[in-house]
Amino acid sequence: MARFFRRGSRDVRLTRHGGAGSNIGVIYWDNNATTPIADEVFAAMEPYLRDCFMNPSADYVSARAVRRAIEEAREHVARLAGASAGEIVFTSGATEAINTVLRGMARMGTAGSASHMMCVATDHDASLHTLRQLGREGVVLPAECPVDRQGVVDCDAWARFVREEDVAGVSLTWVNNETGVVQDVASLCACAHEAGVPVHVDGVQALGKIPVDLHGVGVDYASFSAHKMHGPKGVGALYVKSGCRMPVLLFGGGQEDGRRSGTENVAGIVGFGAAAELAARQLDEAACRMRRLRDAFEGRLQAALDGVEIQSAGSERVSNTSNISFAGCTAQALMLLLEPLGMLCSAGSACSTANPHASHVLTAMGLSDAEARSCLRFSISSMTAEDEMEHASGLVIEAVRKVRSVQSSKTGPVMVFRP
Ligand code: PLP
Repeated sequence: MARFFRRGSRDVRLTRHGGAGSNIGVIYWDNNATTPIADEVFAAMEPYLRDCFMNPSADYVSARAVRRAIEEAREHVARLAGASAGEIVFTSGATEAINTVLRGMARMGTAGSASHMMCVATDHDASLHTLRQLGREGVVLPAECPVDRQGVVDCDAWARFVREEDVAGVSLTWVNNETGVVQDVASLCACAHEAGVPVHVDGVQALGKIPVDLHGVGVDYASFSAHKMHGPKGVGALYVKSGCRMPVLLFGGGQEDGRRSGTENVAGIVGFGAAAELAARQLDEAACRMRRLRDAFEGRLQAALDGVEIQSAGSERVSNTSNISFAGCTAQALMLLLEPLGMLCSAGSACSTANPHASHVLTAMGLSDAEARSCLRFSISSMTAEDEMEHASGLVIEAVRKVRSVQSSKTGPVMVFRP
């Protein structure tokens, strides 16, 4: 029998995870990996996948209507991000936006010799791997700013770095995708600006979850992604503050005012705009509801089980994310039990499940390899139904008890190897 994914009070057939012998709705608690497309986002996109297919660069009336739809979407994304529409450049996702900025910063900062650039040790791989690659190419001297046990940026190390000679730029993640930690972007940005260093912020997990006011915090560049906020995959945005140099990665037909060539992903962009409009409408209410559900979930686990530690609980966290270590269990073993019961969550970020190493985010926070491997990330969304919380906590409690019961001091932790 097929599984169903709960969309608020409605059940929706989820064929991808369909399994025999169960009619339990899938509890999708992996929204930091990606979110389901909202109904109204899908409805807004549909015409641009069918009838309104014209190339927005063409010069006939129907094509100009397509261009207008892109510009409307730009307005919606800009409004949600506290920016002006002219500062938003649509991309194929945040990874492209991040690559564009970091490569651009490196190029702009280079005056004959490689300059210094830094991101944060807990940043997403899109930033970390780009910076390391620039280092391998000899374009920059890369550095990674440490964090404390809560995952908060070490402000002293940040300040020391930006005051060094020849710093081309710094980058940080506003809301961490694994722990939900919210960094003090305004202060870190002010500190870098005092030293004349430009700042890029990966705002992927912030937009649509917390108020984002780019003009207010004063960052120079920011990257966003539609699929983390009930929009489609394969579309994102790069914010370039008015007056800042535009780092161009893709050359060609001159789309996006020559800032990012390539025929626009019109349906994707329209979907991003619709998702931004939806997020702006429900931001406060959704954050309150998610916080209540998340806190109740954590409370139930802590009441029922020993050896449960909420990571980054001592710092400001975004309302939808809970990263929890379960002493004596491996995350992989827990997931193996949870998935057949219809609960989907993650061990580390979705992008790195192929990576056999413990989460670089958690180890950078000081967790041991074994502790990091015992952490599950649960991430809910505005679409998470109220009654999922009770069910989800029950399933996790049962799974932890089961894993612990089959272990002894002789067997050691249950290890799972996926083929
Ligand atoms: N930055 C963060 C914090 C993310 O969570 C992700 C996606 O997992 C990305 C960047 C990459 O975004 P995209 O999938 O749009 O390339």
